[in-house]
Amino acid sequence: METSEILGVKISKVTMEQAVDAAASFSARGVCVVFTPNPEIIMFANSDENYKKALNSADMLLADGIGVVMAASLLKRPLPERVAGYDFVCRLLKAGYSFYLLGAKPSVAERAAQKLINSGVNVVGHHHGYFDDDDTIIADINEKKPDVLLVCLGAPKQEYWITQNKSQLPNCICVGAGGTLDVLAGEVKRAPSFVQRANIEWLYRAIKQPSRFKRLLIIPKFLFKIIGGE
Ligand code: UDP
Repeated sequence: METSEILGVKISKVTMEQAVDAAASFSARGVCVVFTPNPEIIMFANSDENYKKALNSADMLLADGIGVVMAASLLKRPLPERVAGYDFVCRLLKAGYSFYLLGAKPSVAERAAQKLINSGVNVVGHHHGYFDDDDTIIADINEKKPDVLLVCLGAPKQEYWITQNKSQLPNCICVGAGGTLDVLAGEVKRAPSFVQRANIEWLYRAIKQPSRFKRLLIIPKFLFKIIGGE
């Protein structure tokens, strides 16, 4: 798969359509690992070699965030479009796959599972994200054999967890999907579609969750680093 390298992180040059198709064909042969780096994740990888290695070991890295698409253009290694992790998961949810949900607080994981089941999604298993015993979780995932495993432990925890455990997972599309379960449970609201289309979802999220505001400062730092010659 062609990639566009941003601060050492190899973002896949794919549209949403191509990402969904590629995930299906990779997972027929093994575990298809998908990560969704945003500027914050790329900046962290740039300062941490182990994390960068974990990210680049994925089968696909989706450009989650308009900042990543802008950086690729500034570097003259353009990406076809933004492929937001949450939207990618939504596409998989509509494709008739079975799902295992791993992550979020216990009540949130439960509510996300229930909401998906009520909307007709085949959720074969779920577990909250505050566990110590990987083996029990991995055994449960192997017993349930989902088509898609959503690992929502936040970054960098979810990328390390998937990289360390993928050899023990059944063939599936395994997505490091951050706060996706919080949104699916209705805990966190996605921005209205006009805000998404205007590419200012990052601003909306920061206003809605002021605790995230500090994290926004990373975006100008990221773009300055790109303009300044990586
Ligand atoms: N989380 C978890 N286990 C942990 C730490 C975090 O399940 O040990 C969950 C947390 O409850 C939240 C998600 O990981 O549901 C992280 O969400 P956030 O929005 O911070 O992720 P991002 O998409 O920004 O990486």
